[in-house]
Amino acid sequence: MYVIAGSRARWSLSRRSRGSGLTGTATVLLVEDEPAILDLLEVTLAAKGFRVRKAEDAGSARDAIHAELPDVVILDWMLPGQSGIQLARELRSEVRSKFLPIIMLTAKADESDKVQGLEVGADDYITKPFSPRELIARVNALLRRRAPHAADVTLTYGNLTLNPSRHEARAAGKLIEIGATEFRLLAFLLANPERVFSRAQLLDQVWGDHRFIEERTVDVHVLRLRKALQPHGAEELVQTVRGVGYRLAAGQAPS
Ligand code: CA
Repeated sequence: MYVIAGSRARWSLSRRSRGSGLTGTATVLLVEDEPAILDLLEVTLAAKGFRVRKAEDAGSARDAIHAELPDVVILDWMLPGQSGIQLARELRSEVRSKFLPIIMLTAKADESDKVQGLEVGADDYITKPFSPRELIARVNALLRRRAPHAADVTLTYGNLTLNPSRHEARAAGKLIEIGATEFRLLAFLLANPERVFSRAQLLDQVWGDHRFIEERTVDVHVLRLRKALQPHGAEELVQTVRGVGYRLAAGQAPS
């Protein structure tokens, strides 16, 4: 784990190399100002293999999201300065974080507060005190619903299947020899078939980073992915959509 400390950026991240990380180990950003709760959340999630990043206020959370788009945000309602609710509203209003899965964490058990939390765009909420088991179950349920490429679920399209926990991709039952990055790319495309993604979107969703990695990187890994699929006759599923980006689809690429 390393900590980036600065006047604005105060977030830390414990991260295994994304290059070698398994799909299915999603990145969770925790935004919570109470150290004891932050620690409990971190320990609970890290024990289940999640990559955990932490922020203590809305500003640090924004910096962390700007640096790397997480798969899920667990966001405390009551934060010093800007509240979690305000941050959630802001994230929903921005293109890049519009669909970012958000779980609100709140001590408020009032029905009206829950309604408000969901109205600003949170996907779910957890009331403090929470049980670690419930927390994990909710995070997993949200990932399956909103970010299946980062959840531990088997993905299929056509004759392709991908099993994150076994780190296996198969075509018509035959194992595909594939690198770690191409595996994550394939997982994302399998989770979102027939949808076109720009290179910037793929960098965000597969690499977690849209700023420091060049868009050409996407092209390189798409080529490698096609090469891995070629012996199985499945390379044409990864389509280039001219002027836009890439998609996984069986039909004709739109021109
Ligand atoms: Ca708090």
